[in-house]
Amino acid sequence: MATGETKMSKEQAKPAREKRGVPSGLWLSCEDCGAMIFRKECERLMNVCPECGFHMYLGARDRINTVLDAGTFEEWDADLSPTDPLGFTDKKKYSERIVAEQKRTGLRDAALTGSGMVRARRVAFGVTDSAFIMGSMGSVVGEKLTRLVERATSERLPLIIISGSGGGARMHEGIFSLMQMAKVSAALARYDEAQGLFISVLTNPTMGGVAASFASLGDIIFAEPKALIGFAGPRTIKATIRIELPKGFQTSEFLLEHGYIDRIVQRADLKSEIARIIDYCGK
Ligand SMILES: [Zn+2]
Repeated sequence: MATGETKMSKEQAKPAREKRGVPSGLWLSCEDCGAMIFRKECERLMNVCPECGFHMYLGARDRINTVLDAGTFEEWDADLSPTDPLGFTDKKKYSERIVAEQKRTGLRDAALTGSGMVRARRVAFGVTDSAFIMGSMGSVVGEKLTRLVERATSERLPLIIISGSGGGARMHEGIFSLMQMAKVSAALARYDEAQGLFISVLTNPTMGGVAASFASLGDIIFAEPKALIGFAGPRTIKATIRIELPKGFQTSEFLLEHGYIDRIVQRADLKSEIARIIDYCGK
C-alpha cells in the first residue's frame, strides 16, 4: 500500500504549460469558437471560454484546486516514477521522453492521487492529465489508480476520478501498460462489492483504454460539456466500418442522449454536484 505521502507544494501548484494546454500570453483564442479572450478572465472561469462556454484544458493540479477544498489534498504514492522496462525507442528513447515530460509538466507521470475534502466530505481522489504523454495509462498510472481504489475500499471513502486522457495504453510500455486496464477494473469490482460509491468524471478528451476501463465503470458518470469521449477515434471507425458517422458522435451531448453518461456538468458546478451525489447516496 501507499508510502511516501507528501503535501502539495506551492511550486508544484503552477506547472509550466507548453505545447498542450492553454498557451501563455495576455490573450488566447478559444479552440472552439475562435474568439480572442483575455487570459486572466479565462483563468478566473477555470479555463472556460466566456464567449461560448467551451471547456478548455485544465491541468491535474488545477483540477485538484477546483474540486477539493483549499489545502485539503494529501497526495498518495507521490514517489512512484515510471521506468523503461522494454528499452523502448520511437523518435527518442522512452527513458529520455519520461524525463522531458516530467520537466515540462511538473508531474512524475500522468496521474495524481490522494485524499481530500469536497465541501467537508472526505473522498479518495484521482485525476489524469492529458498533457503527460496524452494521459496514457502506463504502469505508474495504473498502479496509482489501483492503490487509490484499494485504499478507498479499506477506508470506506467515496471515490472520485477525473479522466483527461487522449490515449489509453502507453505503447512505450507494451503489455505492462495493457494489463493496467484489467488491474484497475478488478480493484473497482472489489470496491463495488464493498458498496463503495465511484463518481467518474469524463473530460475532454477521454479515449482509448482509459474510456474502456475505469472511466466507464462509475456508479455515476459525469461529463464536461462538448468533451470528446470514445474508444477509437472517428477516422479509424469510419475507415473500418465504411459508413457515415452520426453528427456529434463521441461528444458528451451525444453520449448523454444515448445513455452512456448520467449528466453533463459545467466545470463551475462540479464540486457542488459531487457533494450532492455523495449525500444523496448516503456515503
Ligand atoms: Zn469559445
